[in-house]
Amino acid sequence: MFADIVLPLAVPGAYTYALPLEMEGQVRVGSRVVVPLGKSKRYTGIVIRLHDNAEQVKVDKLKTIEELVDPQPLLLESQINLWRWLANYYMCYPGEVMKAALPAGLKLESETLFALADAVDAHDPDLPQSETERRILQALAAKSNPLADLRKEAASVGTVSALKRLVEAGLVEVEERVSQAFKSKTEVHIRLNETYHSEAALNTLFDTLRRSPRQAELLTAFLDLSSTATALTLQNPALIRPVRRTDLHERMGDAMVAALSGLVKKGILKTENVEVARLKTHKAIPGLLERPLSEAQQTALDEIRTSFSEKEVVLLKGVTSSGKTEIYAKLIRETIAAGKQVLFLLPEIALTTQITTRLGKLFGDQLGIYHSKFPDNERVELWKRQLTPDAFPLILGVRSSLFLPYQNLGLIIVDEEHETSYKQQDPAPRYHARDAAIVMARAQGAKVLLGTATPSLETYTNALNGKYGLVRLETRFGDVSLPDIVVEDLAELRRKRLLTSPFSPRLKEETEAALARGEQAIFFLNRRGYSPVLQCRGCGWTPTCQRCDVSLTLHQKIGRLVCHYCGTQYDIPTHCPQCNETDLRDMGAGTEKIEAAVEACFPTAKTGRMDLDTTRSRSAYEGIIRDFQEHRTNLLVGTQMVTKGLDFGGVSLVGILNADQMLNQCDFRAHERSFQMMTQVAGRAGRRNTQGRVVLQTRQPDLPLIRQIVENDYEGMYRSEMADRRIFRYPPEVRIIHIFLKHRDERKVAQAARLMGDTLRPHFGDDLLGPDKPAVGFAQMLHIRKLLLKVSPNFTPSSVRETLLSVRARLLSIPQVKGLTVYFDVDPV
Ligand code: ADP
Ligand code: ZN
Ligand code: ZN
Repeated sequence: MFADIVLPLAVPGAYTYALPLEMEGQVRVGSRVVVPLGKSKRYTGIVIRLHDNAEQVKVDKLKTIEELVDPQPLLLESQINLWRWLANYYMCYPGEVMKAALPAGLKLESETLFALADAVDAHDPDLPQSETERRILQALAAKSNPLADLRKEAASVGTVSALKRLVEAGLVEVEERVSQAFKSKTEVHIRLNETYHSEAALNTLFDTLRRSPRQAELLTAFLDLSSTATALTLQNPALIRPVRRTDLHERMGDAMVAALSGLVKKGILKTENVEVARLKTHKAIPGLLERPLSEAQQTALDEIRTSFSEKEVVLLKGVTSSGKTEIYAKLIRETIAAGKQVLFLLPEIALTTQITTRLGKLFGDQLGIYHSKFPDNERVELWKRQLTPDAFPLILGVRSSLFLPYQNLGLIIVDEEHETSYKQQDPAPRYHARDAAIVMARAQGAKVLLGTATPSLETYTNALNGKYGLVRLETRFGDVSLPDIVVEDLAELRRKRLLTSPFSPRLKEETEAALARGEQAIFFLNRRGYSPVLQCRGCGWTPTCQRCDVSLTLHQKIGRLVCHYCGTQYDIPTHCPQCNETDLRDMGAGTEKIEAAVEACFPTAKTGRMDLDTTRSRSAYEGIIRDFQEHRTNLLVGTQMVTKGLDFGGVSLVGILNADQMLNQCDFRAHERSFQMMTQVAGRAGRRNTQGRVVLQTRQPDLPLIRQIVENDYEGMYRSEMADRRIFRYPPEVRIIHIFLKHRDERKVAQAARLMGDTLRPHFGDDLLGPDKPAVGFAQMLHIRKLLLKVSPNFTPSSVRETLLSVRARLLSIPQVKGLTVYFDVDPV
């Protein structure tokens, strides 16, 4: 028998290994195994196929599986099928999918282990030794050691070179070992020896303990905590509960330590290590799920059900605050009641806090949460639990939760389906979670509900042409009106010298009024940092990143310039390197500068700020949201993070500070995005009871798109955008694939890109654009070129992939461009 195994490496396909006889029947598809690779490396891989096709493999060169890691397969077949689809469709390697799919704790690490060579005496005085070498040898005489430990042991620099000398001299050998990264959490539990499971025996026992008052005290505490008396009264010793060591410690303090070991020595008490769950469970509020829907919600729910009887995917296009989440809840309940599982996908971790609370109250301990900011051990535990009969029926998570095992999937909800954060940018697999969810659901016979107020053009097109079902919900819950949007013309205000701060007079007035009424406001600005650029007043010079090609952003708080592309930080220059001018000014504004301006303009406001810089940790964004929710802050400044699906009751005003930043982006989706972002952020205003107000600041008030936003005219935006997409041939009219080439040497990457373009052009003609140097043409020491391919529907996707992959293979085999990287981004957003 042979096994095809995926290893966590960026290489094409899977590796074939021989299956030792004793493992037959135990190793299955989805099993995790340890295999050798190369001279001394060990990897853990996942078995994706078992076969006896000996012709396909060169049997003489075949290596053998060394170890089966878990008794049960770690992956279901359906997961392996999803891996296959992702690698194929997004043109990446299966090992890259594996790396993205498995939490770190399930990928075993290969560590280098050093051991003393046979017959070497570490204390032999004749061995030529430096002080460091001597220490290493002595450490190894005791036991084999990984490098990290040896470093500590030798306590000096040069450990590695000393080791290298010892290995070369044949005194030390290198071993490879694979360590299990996941550690389950354990607690010490204490039990009473069965001999004493009767009142008579216990009485005699206390007599013998008369001269050990501490032990008697501990035993009394134990009997109390374990409810032994009740159990014995009921004559059912099985009811005696084990007691946690920490509980006894809490009761008795440190005195308990000696007493416990005394009782254990006498065989009266026993201790054991017990594996405990880390996963938090939620408490449902009884009856909340019974809360009735409004008439409009009920109609929508009925229509969704009907639609599901003939379509696999349904789009629920419901305005902001129409109560989509409540509709999801009813569908989740039905699906769970039918014995099936539900996956609730969110675009962004920042959203999980609120939805977790809402779903927790509705579904209690049926809810499991999975996302990348969780400690890895928790993710491993959830993964393993989903393989048991005890699996959570409802999983809430961001895109990586697609990779979990689902034994019986019934429904996937993709909330805010238009969000671009569903697409993974870097590294591979560059997959779109919404699209992958649809494929996964189809394979498992599950349904998909896409929900949003502002569908992506792709999804809305699919809904209009009948590929997806379409259900509309046009009224807000409680019949609150959609917010009233007023436009402020920044150019005119500036001409009239009425713009003395980033806030127009109207916005200032409305903000002051809202704060005075005890209401809250959100200011939205799609740029983080203090100000985007520092500019020389003399010659216009602006500082750029030395590793990339990007202007640096000034971050006042840390007093540094930061490259938003690669994260490198620089000191703020004191003068211009071009003309020596010392007047360097910050131009434009980012969230950090707005936060400072708010403090100056609205002295009574208590401001929170939410952007990438303030939300690095889970607790950070939870804190910002909670402070705002509980009115400890009353003004929230933020980037697009504040536009997404958050539900705040107290917000009556939203300020869109600079619409032009969004409108002017060089991207064919700029208008679609702007419409979505501004409509979404406007939707945060006036969610309960009263109509909200939005002040939209722009220099282009006459743009049709601005009118469409003001009038909530999605259809109008859709029609005019689709007309453009048809003329200029962009999605959904065609599909796009970006081809990226990277190399340290700019000449070589340019040459390779030209060659690639010349080879592909006969196949695709004018639908191949480039090669170009992208806006960021140099990043992390690599020069970049990009080709853009428009794939019209007359091409089958598989034939396009074949062409691209074979052209890449040929290009990479040319010796002159050694070191070249070529990768694809399929359906970029
Ligand atoms: P959406 O997701 O469409 O923006 P939400 O589901 O967040 O809307 O609902 C908006 C608000 O209305 C929430 O505060 C929610 O609690 C409330 N709500 C929606 N439906 C109901 C209902 N059937 N009963 C009571 N409150 C509801
Ligand atoms: Zn200058
Ligand atoms: Zn950089």
